[in-house]
Amino acid sequence: MNAPFDASRIRFALHGGAGELPANAGPQDRQRAALRDIAESACRVLREGGSAVDAVTFAVERLELCPLFNAGIGAVLNRDGLPELDAAVARGEDRGCGAVAAVSRVASPIQLARAVMERTPHVLLVGGGAERVAADLGLTMVEPAHFIIPLRLEQLEAAKRTGAIALDHVDDDVPDAAFGTVGAVARDGRGHLAAATSTGGLTNKLPGRVGDSAVFGAGTFADDSSCAISCTGTGEAFIRAAFGQNVHGRIVFRGQSIDQACAAALDDVRRANGVGGCIAIGRDGTISLPFNAGVLYRAWVDQSGIAKVAIRRDDAG
Ligand code: ASP
Repeated sequence: MNAPFDASRIRFALHGGAGELPANAGPQDRQRAALRDIAESACRVLREGGSAVDAVTFAVERLELCPLFNAGIGAVLNRDGLPELDAAVARGEDRGCGAVAAVSRVASPIQLARAVMERTPHVLLVGGGAERVAADLGLTMVEPAHFIIPLRLEQLEAAKRTGAIALDHVDDDVPDAAFGTVGAVARDGRGHLAAATSTGGLTNKLPGRVGDSAVFGAGTFADDSSCAISCTGTGEAFIRAAFGQNVHGRIVFRGQSIDQACAAALDDVRRANGVGGCIAIGRDGTISLPFNAGVLYRAWVDQSGIAKVAIRRDDAG
């Protein structure tokens, strides 16, 4: 399909992770402001004629630079105290996809994921090999320390004391803690869909562990015939639920609405002992933002063109 540009088709959503907030949590004003600002900027990209892929990679790159979330700078740390970052981008037009996993030296993992999609014949590159390709492609390289903030070192120490491998954000002692994984979904003015996700994964994870964010058809998915999806939560459960492909199949083969399909796939996540949520945009522009955790940091722009932000279930947006 190469439809003419029509700004009324534009839809956008992003997330900054799902999890539990301690009862004494503050209003999360900094996180809300960042989500709103980035959602509005990404919509400008779409209104100026940018593609869905342009908008989701733009938003996720901005979120990677923001230390309030678990991606890029401020990512959580593995058992060895190292950031090992996962990211993926998916293009609905042709099911294009690029992903990277367990990288520690690439300034923007989502930029590298996009480069894998657009500039290599591959879909998923990992670790040292991915980093060599990033350097060869001229992307900005950094030392792992570039990503580490003191809060994540404290969270790693706390997780080690109990032996937990933790979703990044459950932290009673830090009421205004940096939050979760980031992702974005968009429908552009030509009706094409795209999704992108970036994360540090789980605190105290084993070295080499790869989560759902980097797995096309699990935590990141886009197909113009159904929907675009970015997930957050217990990555192993989202992979076992084949979340993105699960939602796609329910829409295409069972005729379910995007809300029904996401809810059913989230049930599969729960059955796999997982918690979390997703942001999704259907091919008809419907936005679905379901979660089975306490909170989902989210912002979205529907047909009204106005950005809304919510964290708790009953937030007005
Ligand atoms: N889903 C991510 C992972 O398992 C973590 C998260 O969303 O917080 O890597």
